[in-house]
Amino acid sequence: MSKDKAKTDNPLLGNMLFPKFRQIKPEHVEDAIDYILSVNRTNLASLLKSREFSWDNLVQPLEEDAVTLENAFSPVRHLNSVMNNDKLRKAYNNCLPKLSEYAAELGQNTALFKAFLQIKKSSQFGRLNQAQRKTIENALRDFKLSGVDLPASKKKRFKEISTKLSSLGAKFSENILDVTNIWFKHVTDKSQLKGLSENVLQLAAQTAKDKKLTGYVFNLEFPLWHPVMQYAENRELRREMYKAYVTRASGLGPHDKKYDNSKIMLDILKLKQEQAEILAFKSYAEVSLASKMAESPAKVIDFLTELFVKSKAQAKDEFRELKEFARQQRIDDIKAWDVAFLSEKLKTSKFNISSQELRDWFPADKVINGMFELCASLFSIKIDQVQDIEIWHKDVKVFRIQKDKKTLAYFYLDLYARANKRGGAWMDECRSRICFADDKLQLPIAYLSCNFSPPLTDQPSLLTFEEVTTLFHEFGHGLQHMLTTIEAAAVSGINGVQWDAVELPSQFLENFCWQSDIIPLISAHFKTGKPLPDKKLAALLKAKNFQSAMAMLRQLEFALFDMRLHNEFKNDPEQIENTLAQVRGKTSLLPTPKWNRFANSFSHIFAGGYAAGYYSYKWAEVLAADAFALFEEKGIFDKKTGKRFLTYILETGGSQDALDLFVKFRGRKPQPGALLRHSGIRP
Ligand code: ZN
Repeated sequence: MSKDKAKTDNPLLGNMLFPKFRQIKPEHVEDAIDYILSVNRTNLASLLKSREFSWDNLVQPLEEDAVTLENAFSPVRHLNSVMNNDKLRKAYNNCLPKLSEYAAELGQNTALFKAFLQIKKSSQFGRLNQAQRKTIENALRDFKLSGVDLPASKKKRFKEISTKLSSLGAKFSENILDVTNIWFKHVTDKSQLKGLSENVLQLAAQTAKDKKLTGYVFNLEFPLWHPVMQYAENRELRREMYKAYVTRASGLGPHDKKYDNSKIMLDILKLKQEQAEILAFKSYAEVSLASKMAESPAKVIDFLTELFVKSKAQAKDEFRELKEFARQQRIDDIKAWDVAFLSEKLKTSKFNISSQELRDWFPADKVINGMFELCASLFSIKIDQVQDIEIWHKDVKVFRIQKDKKTLAYFYLDLYARANKRGGAWMDECRSRICFADDKLQLPIAYLSCNFSPPLTDQPSLLTFEEVTTLFHEFGHGLQHMLTTIEAAAVSGINGVQWDAVELPSQFLENFCWQSDIIPLISAHFKTGKPLPDKKLAALLKAKNFQSAMAMLRQLEFALFDMRLHNEFKNDPEQIENTLAQVRGKTSLLPTPKWNRFANSFSHIFAGGYAAGYYSYKWAEVLAADAFALFEEKGIFDKKTGKRFLTYILETGGSQDALDLFVKFRGRKPQPGALLRHSGIRP
C-alpha cells in the first residue's frame, strides 16, 4: 500500500480525540505504525539539521511525534488486551519489535542526546517552565539508560536485547491468557457445588451454556475461580482448581507444555542482567531503581524487612487462629487450597459477615455513582456519561470530567469479565494531555478495565467489597492521568511519575471505601434500595483488618522475591524457584505445594514493567496512607485538603520529583505509621 493511501484510509491515523474503535481492523495496524515511524524518522533527521537547539525547534516537535505514535498504538494495545483474537494479536506482536527498535534508535541517538545536552546547558533552560525542564532532565537520564554513551558494538547488542525483551514479555502474557482460556472444569452434579451462592451458580451455568454444555462450567477467570476457592465445600474441587490456577503457564498441572513460561522467564532475566552489565550496573535491580524514588536495592530490602519485622508476630497469631478454626471444621492438615475457604468461614463466624452476602448491597452502578459523587465534591469536578462515542464492546460506557463547565478529560469504563479479555483490573492511557505548537490542546483520555461479574437476567452486576476497593484504586490512577494540568506529554498525567510513586493516588483513593461516612454513598441493596444496615456496616469495618498481617506478608513475599531475583541473578536456571523458596522460608506460614509455579504467571515482573519494582506497591502505600492521614486529621470531606491533593499530586504528576511533591502536600517526609495503623498492625 502506498503511503498516501495508508494515510487516507487508515482509522488509526489522524490524531483524532476518540479512537475509531469500530473501524479499526487488524490489517490497519502495521500500515499505520510503519507510516508513522517513517514520518517520525524523517522529521527527526530534519530537526537535527539545526545548529542551535531549543524547546520549540526540537523537543516540542519530538513530543508531538511521540504523541502521534502513541495515539495510533494505544487503541491497538488496548484492543489486544480486551478483545484479543489471533489476527489482532499477530498484528500487535509484529509491531512490538518495530516500536522497540525505534525507541532504542531514539534512546541511542548521539546527535539527539547532544542536542538535548545543548539545551540543558544553555541560558534558555532556566526560562523553560518546570514541566519542560523535567522533560529534558528525564530525557537525558533515559538516554544514558538506553546506552547512548556506549561504543557501537555494545549499542547494537543493547538494542537487540530491548527488542527481544519486548517480544518475550508479550509471549509471557499470551501463554497465561491462552491457558486461562483453555482450561475449565465441567460439573454436572449440583451436589458437588455446595457452598456456592446462587449468583455464582448462575454464572457457571451461563458459562456452560456458552460452551454448549449442560450443568456448570468453572474456568480460571476471577468471577468463577475465586468463589470456588472461598466457598466450595468440596475440598477436592478446590484442590483441582487451585492446582490448575497456580500451575498456569508452567507445563505442570493440567496444562499443555507448549504454554510453559519457564524458559521465557529465564531468558528475560538473562537479557536484563546482560543489559545491566552493558550499562556498567551490577544488576538489573540497580537499573530499575535509577529512575525511581528508592535509592538502592539494599534500601528497598531494608524497607521491606522493616515492614516484615513489624508484621510477622501478628501474622503468626492470625494463622494460629485459622489453624484452630480449621480443627473445629475437622481439617487437621490445612492446605494451600483451604486457606481462602477457611478464612472466609472464620471471618463470617467472627464478624457475622460474608463477602458473598455483602455483594447484594453493592450494585456496580450505585458504587460508581457514589465514587463519582465523592470525587466531584473533593476535587470540585463534575462527571457525567456521554453517548455516541465509538466503543469496542456494547458493555463499555464513556464519561466526561468537567470543572467550571470546562471539559478536562474523558474515560472509557469496561467493567465485566469476558472471554479474550485480560484478567485483573487496570487503568491505561488512551490520550495524554499535550498542548500542540498550534495551541491546540489534546485532552487526556483513560481506559478503566475491570473483570467484575456481569449482570444476570434478574440482577445487576454486584460487586464484592474487594471489587469496590479495586474500582476506587483504578479510578485513583485515572484521576492522576485525567486531572493533570501539565501540557508537556512526557510528564503529564501519570507519564514520568516515578514508578514507586505511581500507586499513590490509587491506594490513596481506596482508603475512602473504609469510611463509615462514605459507605452509604456507595451502597444500596439491589432489591430494596435500602442502605447497608448499621450492624453490617459495623461488621464490615471491624472485619477490615481481618488477617491483614497475613496479607502484608504475602505482598512482602512477592516484593522480596522480585527484588532479590533481579538483584542477585547469576544465570542459574534453578534460581527462580530457589529464590522464591528462600523468601517463602521466611514469609510463608504454611508450606507451599511443590508443584506451585506462582512465578510462571507473575506478569507484573515478567511482562508488566514491575521488574525489580513490585516493592512499589508497599512503598507507595506508605505515601498513600500518610497522605490519607491528613484527611483523617482535617476531615475526610475537607475541601481544602482535597484541593491540596489535587494541586500537588493529581494535577502536577510527573512534572516534579515525587518526594518533593509529597512534602509540599504533607508538610513533611512520609512516615510508615499511618500504613501500619490502617492495617491494624500492632505497634
Ligand atoms: Zn495500581
